[in-house]
Amino acid sequence: MVIALNKLDKKIFNIVRKVGQSADKHSLPIYVVGGVVRDILLKKDIFDLDFVVEGDGIKLANILARELNLKPIVHSKFGTATLILQDNIRLDFVSARKEVYSYPGALPNVELGKLADDLFRRDFTINAMAIAINQDNFGVLIDKFNGSEDLSSGIIRVLHDKSYTDDPTRILRAVRFEQRLKFSINSHDLGLIKKTLKSKAINSVGQVRYFNEIKKMIVEENALACFKRLRILKAEKIIGARIRLDLKLLSKTISNIKGVKRDKFYQGQYSSWIFLFMAMVSPLSVNSLSKLIKRFGINNHDRNAILHSLKKEGIAQALSQRQLKGSQIYCILNQLPLETILFIRAYTSNKNVNVNIDHYLQRIAKVKLLSDGNDIKSLGNIAPKEIGKIISKLLLAKIDGLVKNKKEELNLAKKIKLDAGL
Ligand code: ATP
Repeated sequence: MVIALNKLDKKIFNIVRKVGQSADKHSLPIYVVGGVVRDILLKKDIFDLDFVVEGDGIKLANILARELNLKPIVHSKFGTATLILQDNIRLDFVSARKEVYSYPGALPNVELGKLADDLFRRDFTINAMAIAINQDNFGVLIDKFNGSEDLSSGIIRVLHDKSYTDDPTRILRAVRFEQRLKFSINSHDLGLIKKTLKSKAINSVGQVRYFNEIKKMIVEENALACFKRLRILKAEKIIGARIRLDLKLLSKTISNIKGVKRDKFYQGQYSSWIFLFMAMVSPLSVNSLSKLIKRFGINNHDRNAILHSLKKEGIAQALSQRQLKGSQIYCILNQLPLETILFIRAYTSNKNVNVNIDHYLQRIAKVKLLSDGNDIKSLGNIAPKEIGKIISKLLLAKIDGLVKNKKEELNLAKKIKLDAGL
């Protein structure tokens, strides 16, 4: 079958043609592969492209980078290189690879191989197709595992029976694609998944790899359906033995977070996975959540935000009064990471809480003093610790509109100093 690549978005088509021509110049067989091919066949919009080169993929990426005046990101160890074009289109180049697993669940040892080897190491038939883009075979579909047939019949199927035990993260991937595409995991695969879940193989994968898949699942349009499916498959234990997903809270957060996302004010300030993760881990104690965070290799900033999210009820309760002063709202929220604050906004249905949070984010958090530590110091003999305290009090006064300019700030500072007997 030949795919009419000229029907792709013009920008994407031109890139594909240019990459194919450069590969031709160096006699390198090259293919578009994986999820991109699936999405091309499904006529979905394409934003990024993955290429497999039979030969040195890094060399080709370097040549293209020179031609396009770009800086390649090279991972020699994995034989991969990435180019990011001006309009943020990402091109990934891989040298065709063959993988050998020393034991189930182990990270594979990678050797140079042919396209067929590269396709055989992939997860599902629908993700294991390639389209040739050299001039003499431009657009030819390579589909050794009948992926296009599974795509038409809506089936998720691995390439061989050992696939889930080789890499149990594929269980999460199967569910993600099934729910995203509204496909069905093939009944034979359901049996393989069940067996894998009962085997030791699920413990042989590093938790960080599971977590990377969970993050991808969380940001899917229908994340909730994915988690429901995991429950039906009894695969929740992959996420962490003690997590019982609170699907109700998850569902509420998912729909509310959409509202928060639509609000222009909040755009682009956070990574979306974190809110749903907070909802997911909501039933856990601080202790088990801390352990989970450690196992998943979550960084310190996100760790801090996630742990604070366990206090959501108390914080929402404190913010639920209507007549709170700005300084009171500030004291409740100022120690919290932005992600925790936005989560509480999505979590609660209480209008006062939302109004107070919006007030905080849009005005209170931006209030700045005109005087600084040196100004306060110049008022007389004050210890550094006391300077900090005076500044905090000044800020609260400014938030409540009690001081407006630097002169008023310094007058109030003098008064605070006197009152404190300093
Ligand atoms: P998305 O549309 O979510 O980006 P994708 O299919 O591009 O989906 P990625 O996770 O970016 O998914 O992976 C790219 C390709 O790499 C997949 O299509 C698949 O062929 C292969 N792949 C990724 N993870 C695995 C895995 N665990 N086992 C085998 N193949 C994988």
